[in-house]
Amino acid sequence: MEKISIVVPCYYEEKSLPFFYEKINEVTKKMNNVEFEIIFVNDGSNDNTLNIMKDYANLDTRVKYISLSRNFGKESALYAGLENSTGDYIAVMDADLQDPPELLEQMYNSLINEDYDCIATRRVDRKGEPPIRSFFARCFYKLINKISNTDIVDGARDFRLMKRKMVEAILQMKEYNRFSKGIFGWVGFNTKWIAYENIERVAGETKWSFWKLFKYSIEGIVAFSTSPLLISSFIGIIFFIISFIMICFIIVRTLIVGDPVAGWPSLVCIIFFVGGIQLFCTGILGQYLAKAYIETKNRPIYIIKESNIFKSKDRINTYEKDNTNIK
Ligand code: UDP
Ligand code: MG
Repeated sequence: MEKISIVVPCYYEEKSLPFFYEKINEVTKKMNNVEFEIIFVNDGSNDNTLNIMKDYANLDTRVKYISLSRNFGKESALYAGLENSTGDYIAVMDADLQDPPELLEQMYNSLINEDYDCIATRRVDRKGEPPIRSFFARCFYKLINKISNTDIVDGARDFRLMKRKMVEAILQMKEYNRFSKGIFGWVGFNTKWIAYENIERVAGETKWSFWKLFKYSIEGIVAFSTSPLLISSFIGIIFFIISFIMICFIIVRTLIVGDPVAGWPSLVCIIFFVGGIQLFCTGILGQYLAKAYIETKNRPIYIIKESNIFKSKDRINTYEKDNTNIK
Protein backbone atom coordinates (compact mmCIF):
# COMPACT_ATOMS: atom_id res chain seq x y z
CA MET A 1 0.00 0.00 0.00
CA GLU A 2 1.26 3.46 -0.79
CA LYS A 3 1.97 5.83 2.03
CA ILE A 4 1.32 9.55 2.46
CA SER A 5 3.31 11.49 5.06
CA ILE A 6 1.68 14.67 6.30
CA VAL A 7 4.13 17.19 7.71
CA VAL A 8 2.59 19.76 10.06
CA PRO A 9 4.75 22.54 11.53
CA CYS A 10 3.27 23.80 14.80
CA TYR A 11 4.13 26.88 16.81
CA TYR A 12 1.83 27.61 19.73
CA GLU A 13 -1.00 25.61 18.18
CA GLU A 14 -2.57 24.08 21.30
CA LYS A 15 -5.91 25.60 20.32
CA SER A 16 -5.89 24.51 16.67
CA LEU A 17 -4.40 21.02 17.03
CA PRO A 18 -7.57 19.26 18.28
CA PHE A 19 -9.55 20.70 15.35
CA PHE A 20 -6.80 19.71 12.96
CA TYR A 21 -6.52 16.17 14.30
CA GLU A 22 -10.27 15.65 14.12
CA LYS A 23 -10.39 16.88 10.53
CA ILE A 24 -7.39 14.88 9.38
CA ASN A 25 -8.91 11.75 10.92
CA GLU A 26 -12.08 12.30 8.91
CA VAL A 27 -10.08 12.69 5.71
CA THR A 28 -7.76 9.75 6.28
CA LYS A 29 -10.70 7.49 7.15
CA LYS A 30 -12.21 8.25 3.76
CA MET A 31 -8.97 7.53 1.93
CA ASN A 32 -8.75 3.92 3.08
CA ASN A 33 -6.67 2.80 0.10
CA VAL A 34 -3.58 4.61 1.40
CA GLU A 35 -1.47 4.37 4.52
CA PHE A 36 -0.80 7.56 6.49
CA GLU A 37 1.90 9.01 8.66
CA ILE A 38 1.32 12.33 10.42
CA ILE A 39 4.48 14.16 11.46
CA PHE A 40 3.89 17.02 13.86
CA VAL A 41 6.88 19.30 14.28
CA ASN A 42 6.82 21.38 17.44
CA ASP A 43 8.80 24.47 16.49
CA GLY A 44 9.83 25.43 20.04
CA SER A 45 6.41 26.32 21.44
CA ASN A 46 6.23 26.32 25.23
CA ASP A 47 2.50 25.80 25.62
CA ASN A 48 0.68 22.48 25.53
CA THR A 49 1.39 21.86 21.83
CA LEU A 50 3.98 19.14 22.51
CA ASN A 51 1.87 17.40 25.16
CA ILE A 52 -1.08 17.25 22.78
CA MET A 53 1.17 15.74 20.10
CA LYS A 54 2.41 13.14 22.58
CA ASP A 55 -1.15 12.25 23.55
CA TYR A 56 -2.05 11.70 19.91
CA ALA A 57 1.10 9.63 19.38
CA ASN A 58 0.16 7.40 22.32
CA LEU A 59 -3.32 6.83 20.91
CA ASP A 60 -2.44 6.61 17.24
CA THR A 61 0.60 4.81 15.83
CA ARG A 62 0.43 6.89 12.66
CA VAL A 63 1.34 10.01 14.63
CA LYS A 64 4.99 10.98 14.90
CA TYR A 65 6.27 14.05 16.65
CA ILE A 66 9.51 15.98 16.49
CA SER A 67 10.16 18.71 19.02
CA LEU A 68 12.83 21.24 18.10
CA SER A 69 15.13 22.71 20.74
CA ARG A 70 13.86 26.25 20.10
CA ASN A 71 11.85 28.22 17.57
CA PHE A 72 13.70 27.77 14.28
CA GLY A 73 10.92 29.17 12.08
CA LYS A 74 8.38 27.42 9.90
CA GLU A 75 10.85 26.79 7.09
CA SER A 76 13.24 24.84 9.33
CA ALA A 77 10.37 22.97 10.96
CA LEU A 78 9.24 21.92 7.48
CA TYR A 79 12.72 20.71 6.65
CA ALA A 80 12.83 18.65 9.85
CA GLY A 81 9.48 17.07 8.96
CA LEU A 82 10.42 16.36 5.36
CA GLU A 83 13.75 14.85 6.32
CA ASN A 84 12.10 12.45 8.74
CA SER A 85 9.20 11.47 6.52
CA THR A 86 9.04 8.01 5.01
CA GLY A 87 6.00 8.20 2.71
CA ASP A 88 5.90 7.78 -1.08
CA TYR A 89 3.98 11.03 -1.17
CA ILE A 90 4.53 13.88 1.22
CA ALA A 91 2.02 16.57 2.09
CA VAL A 92 2.88 19.82 3.84
CA MET A 93 0.05 21.44 5.76
CA ASP A 94 -0.50 24.16 8.37
CA ALA A 95 -2.03 23.22 11.69
CA ASP A 96 -4.62 26.00 11.68
CA LEU A 97 -6.88 24.43 8.98
CA GLN A 98 -6.16 27.32 6.60
CA ASP A 99 -4.97 24.53 4.32
CA PRO A 100 -8.17 22.46 3.94
CA PRO A 101 -7.25 18.78 4.53
CA GLU A 102 -10.31 17.65 2.55
CA LEU A 103 -8.45 18.69 -0.62
CA LEU A 104 -5.96 15.92 0.04
CA GLU A 105 -8.05 13.25 -1.67
CA GLN A 106 -8.39 15.31 -4.83
CA MET A 107 -4.67 16.08 -4.75
CA TYR A 108 -3.74 12.43 -4.33
CA ASN A 109 -6.01 11.36 -7.19
CA SER A 110 -4.49 13.99 -9.48
CA LEU A 111 -1.02 12.91 -8.54
CA ILE A 112 -1.53 9.23 -9.28
CA ASN A 113 -3.70 9.64 -12.38
CA GLU A 114 -2.08 12.60 -14.10
CA ASP A 115 1.49 13.26 -15.06
CA TYR A 116 2.44 15.56 -12.19
CA ASP A 117 5.09 15.44 -9.49
CA CYS A 118 3.43 17.90 -7.22
CA ILE A 119 -0.03 19.27 -6.59
CA ALA A 120 0.18 22.70 -5.02
CA THR A 121 -2.44 25.13 -3.83
CA ARG A 122 -2.93 28.85 -4.12
CA ARG A 123 -5.57 31.06 -2.66
CA VAL A 124 -7.43 33.28 -5.06
CA ASP A 125 -8.25 35.99 -2.55
CA ARG A 126 -6.92 37.31 0.72
CA LYS A 127 -10.20 37.53 2.59
CA GLY A 128 -9.82 38.30 6.29
CA GLU A 129 -6.35 39.78 5.88
CA PRO A 130 -5.61 43.44 6.69
CA PRO A 131 -5.71 45.40 3.37
CA ILE A 132 -2.29 46.91 3.97
CA ARG A 133 -0.77 43.43 4.35
CA SER A 134 -2.45 42.27 1.11
CA PHE A 135 -1.18 45.36 -0.70
CA PHE A 136 2.43 44.81 0.33
CA ALA A 137 2.16 41.08 -0.37
CA ARG A 138 1.00 41.80 -3.94
CA CYS A 139 3.82 44.32 -4.46
CA PHE A 140 6.30 41.78 -3.16
CA TYR A 141 5.19 39.05 -5.58
CA LYS A 142 5.27 41.44 -8.51
CA LEU A 143 8.75 42.60 -7.59
CA ILE A 144 10.28 39.21 -6.90
CA ASN A 145 8.91 37.74 -10.11
CA LYS A 146 10.46 40.60 -12.08
CA ILE A 147 13.90 40.30 -10.55
CA SER A 148 14.17 36.56 -9.99
CA ASN A 149 14.39 33.70 -12.48
CA THR A 150 12.50 31.42 -10.13
CA ASP A 151 8.76 31.40 -10.60
CA ILE A 152 7.12 32.44 -7.33
CA VAL A 153 3.34 32.28 -7.58
CA ASP A 154 1.24 35.01 -5.94
CA GLY A 155 -1.04 33.57 -3.31
CA ALA A 156 0.80 30.23 -3.31
CA ARG A 157 0.40 28.38 -0.04
CA ASP A 158 2.97 25.97 1.30
CA PHE A 159 0.16 23.38 1.26
CA ARG A 160 1.12 20.76 -1.33
CA LEU A 161 1.39 17.05 -1.99
CA MET A 162 4.67 15.97 -3.55
CA LYS A 163 6.22 12.79 -4.85
CA ARG A 164 9.25 11.58 -2.94
CA LYS A 165 11.67 12.49 -5.72
CA MET A 166 10.70 16.15 -5.40
CA VAL A 167 11.12 16.02 -1.64
CA GLU A 168 14.58 14.49 -2.06
CA ALA A 169 15.47 17.40 -4.33
CA ILE A 170 14.22 19.89 -1.73
CA LEU A 171 16.22 18.12 0.98
CA GLN A 172 19.35 18.54 -1.11
CA MET A 173 18.98 22.28 -0.77
CA LYS A 174 20.61 22.63 2.60
CA GLU A 175 20.76 26.40 2.76
CA TYR A 176 20.20 27.99 6.13
CA ASN A 177 18.11 30.89 4.81
CA ARG A 178 15.14 28.95 3.58
CA PHE A 179 12.48 30.67 1.53
CA SER A 180 10.18 27.73 0.83
CA LYS A 181 8.13 29.32 -1.91
CA GLY A 182 11.33 29.93 -3.85
CA ILE A 183 12.77 26.51 -3.06
CA PHE A 184 9.62 24.73 -4.29
CA GLY A 185 9.80 26.73 -7.51
CA TRP A 186 13.55 26.35 -7.94
CA VAL A 187 13.59 22.54 -7.85
CA GLY A 188 11.21 22.49 -10.81
CA PHE A 189 9.12 19.35 -11.51
CA ASN A 190 5.61 19.36 -12.94
CA THR A 191 3.31 21.20 -10.64
CA LYS A 192 -0.45 21.45 -10.89
CA TRP A 193 -2.08 24.38 -9.10
CA ILE A 194 -5.40 24.10 -7.34
CA ALA A 195 -7.09 27.36 -6.39
CA TYR A 196 -9.32 27.88 -3.37
CA GLU A 197 -10.78 30.76 -1.43
CA ASN A 198 -8.90 31.93 1.60
CA ILE A 199 -10.01 30.34 4.85
CA GLU A 200 -9.46 32.02 8.19
CA ARG A 201 -7.55 30.32 10.96
CA VAL A 202 -9.68 27.94 13.05
CA ALA A 203 -8.20 29.05 16.42
CA GLY A 204 -5.20 30.87 17.87
CA GLU A 205 -3.41 33.72 16.14
CA THR A 206 -1.03 34.14 13.25
CA LYS A 207 2.62 34.47 14.29
CA TRP A 208 3.48 36.68 11.34
CA SER A 209 3.69 40.32 12.34
CA PHE A 210 4.13 42.94 9.66
CA TRP A 211 7.80 43.30 10.58
CA LYS A 212 8.39 39.53 10.44
CA LEU A 213 6.79 39.43 6.99
CA PHE A 214 8.92 42.35 5.84
CA LYS A 215 12.09 40.59 6.95
CA TYR A 216 10.90 37.38 5.32
CA SER A 217 10.31 39.15 2.00
CA ILE A 218 13.80 40.67 2.07
CA GLU A 219 15.17 37.19 2.76
CA GLY A 220 13.21 35.86 -0.21
CA ILE A 221 14.62 38.50 -2.52
CA VAL A 222 18.20 38.04 -1.32
CA ALA A 223 17.91 34.25 -1.55
CA PHE A 224 16.46 34.11 -5.06
CA SER A 225 17.78 37.14 -6.91
CA THR A 226 21.03 39.03 -7.24
CA SER A 227 19.35 41.83 -9.22
CA PRO A 228 19.48 44.32 -6.32
CA LEU A 229 23.30 44.21 -6.61
CA LEU A 230 23.03 44.96 -10.32
CA ILE A 231 20.56 47.76 -9.66
CA SER A 232 22.90 49.36 -7.11
CA SER A 233 25.77 49.20 -9.63
CA PHE A 234 23.51 50.89 -12.19
CA ILE A 235 22.64 53.63 -9.75
CA GLY A 236 26.38 54.15 -9.22
CA ILE A 237 27.03 54.41 -12.98
CA ILE A 238 24.14 56.85 -13.49
CA PHE A 239 25.43 59.06 -10.69
CA PHE A 240 28.92 58.96 -12.15
CA ILE A 241 27.61 60.08 -15.56
CA ILE A 242 25.48 62.86 -14.03
CA SER A 243 28.39 64.16 -11.96
CA PHE A 244 30.70 64.07 -15.00
CA ILE A 245 28.23 66.17 -17.01
CA MET A 246 27.84 68.56 -14.08
CA ILE A 247 31.63 68.98 -13.74
CA CYS A 248 31.97 69.75 -17.47
CA PHE A 249 29.10 72.22 -17.21
CA ILE A 250 30.62 74.02 -14.21
CA ILE A 251 34.08 74.23 -15.82
CA VAL A 252 32.66 75.68 -19.01
CA ARG A 253 30.43 78.10 -17.12
CA THR A 254 33.34 79.29 -14.94
CA LEU A 255 35.47 79.89 -18.02
CA ILE A 256 32.74 81.84 -19.79
CA VAL A 257 30.94 83.82 -17.06
CA GLY A 258 33.38 83.60 -14.16
CA ASP A 259 32.52 82.13 -10.73
CA PRO A 260 29.15 83.36 -9.49
CA VAL A 261 28.04 83.01 -5.82
CA ALA A 262 28.70 79.49 -4.66
CA GLY A 263 25.44 77.77 -3.74
CA TRP A 264 26.37 75.76 -0.71
CA PRO A 265 22.79 74.81 0.34
CA SER A 266 22.34 72.94 -2.91
CA LEU A 267 25.73 71.37 -2.35
CA VAL A 268 24.66 70.09 1.05
CA CYS A 269 21.49 68.64 -0.47
CA ILE A 270 23.51 66.85 -3.12
CA ILE A 271 25.94 65.49 -0.52
CA PHE A 272 23.05 64.17 1.56
CA PHE A 273 21.36 62.69 -1.48
CA VAL A 274 24.45 60.93 -2.78
CA GLY A 275 25.40 59.85 0.75
CA GLY A 276 21.93 58.30 1.16
CA ILE A 277 22.18 56.43 -2.10
CA GLN A 278 25.63 55.17 -1.13
CA LEU A 279 24.40 53.87 2.21
CA PHE A 280 21.42 52.25 0.53
CA CYS A 281 23.67 50.41 -1.91
CA THR A 282 26.10 49.43 0.84
CA GLY A 283 23.10 48.10 2.75
CA ILE A 284 22.13 45.91 -0.20
CA LEU A 285 25.69 44.62 -0.39
CA GLY A 286 25.63 44.04 3.35
CA GLN A 287 22.50 41.89 3.07
CA TYR A 288 24.17 39.53 0.64
CA LEU A 289 27.36 39.49 2.67
CA ALA A 290 25.43 38.73 5.85
CA LYS A 291 23.59 35.84 4.23
CA ALA A 292 26.82 34.48 2.76
CA TYR A 293 28.44 34.77 6.21
CA ILE A 294 25.66 32.78 7.86
CA GLU A 295 25.75 30.14 5.12
CA THR A 296 29.51 29.63 5.48
CA LYS A 297 29.03 28.77 9.14
CA ASN A 298 27.15 25.71 7.95
CA ARG A 299 24.96 25.56 11.01
CA PRO A 300 22.33 22.85 11.33
CA ILE A 301 18.94 23.87 9.95
CA TYR A 302 17.24 22.50 13.05
CA ILE A 303 18.08 20.70 16.28
CA ILE A 304 15.81 18.00 17.66
CA LYS A 305 15.22 17.94 21.40
CA GLU A 306 12.71 15.15 21.55
CA SER A 307 11.01 12.80 19.12
CA ASN A 308 9.32 9.43 18.82
CA ILE A 309 11.03 8.78 15.50
CA PHE A 310 14.09 6.66 16.18
CA LYS A 311 14.85 4.87 12.98
CA SER A 312 15.14 7.41 10.33
CA LYS A 313 16.77 5.64 7.39
CA ASP A 314 20.52 6.23 7.31
CA ARG A 315 20.28 8.81 10.08
CA ILE A 316 19.83 6.05 12.64
CA ASN A 317 23.33 6.55 14.05
CA THR A 318 22.93 10.23 14.61
CA TYR A 319 20.39 9.63 17.36
CA GLU A 320 22.04 9.40 20.71
CA LYS A 321 20.88 7.35 23.62
CA ASP A 322 19.12 10.23 25.33
CA ASN A 323 17.08 10.76 22.20
CA THR A 324 18.75 14.06 21.34
CA ASN A 325 19.62 14.52 17.72
CA ILE A 326 21.64 17.19 16.06
CA LYS A 327 21.25 17.15 12.32
N1 UDP B 1 4.75 28.08 12.30
C1 UDP B 1 5.91 27.46 12.73
N2 UDP B 1 6.96 28.23 13.20
C2 UDP B 1 6.88 29.60 13.24
C3 UDP B 1 5.70 30.22 12.78
C4 UDP B 1 4.66 29.44 12.31
O1 UDP B 1 6.02 26.23 12.70
O2 UDP B 1 7.85 30.23 13.69
C5 UDP B 1 3.62 27.26 11.80
C6 UDP B 1 2.28 27.53 12.45
O3 UDP B 1 2.09 26.76 13.62
C7 UDP B 1 1.30 27.13 11.37
C8 UDP B 1 2.05 27.50 10.09
O4 UDP B 1 3.44 27.58 10.44
O5 UDP B 1 1.00 25.75 11.37
C9 UDP B 1 1.57 28.82 9.49
O6 UDP B 1 1.67 29.85 10.46
P1 UDP B 1 0.58 30.99 10.62
O7 UDP B 1 -0.79 30.41 10.56
O8 UDP B 1 0.95 31.77 11.85
O9 UDP B 1 0.87 31.85 9.32
P2 UDP B 1 -0.19 32.46 8.26
O10 UDP B 1 -1.16 31.35 7.94
O11 UDP B 1 -0.84 33.60 8.96
O12 UDP B 1 0.65 32.86 7.10
MG1 MG C 1 -2.26 30.33 9.16
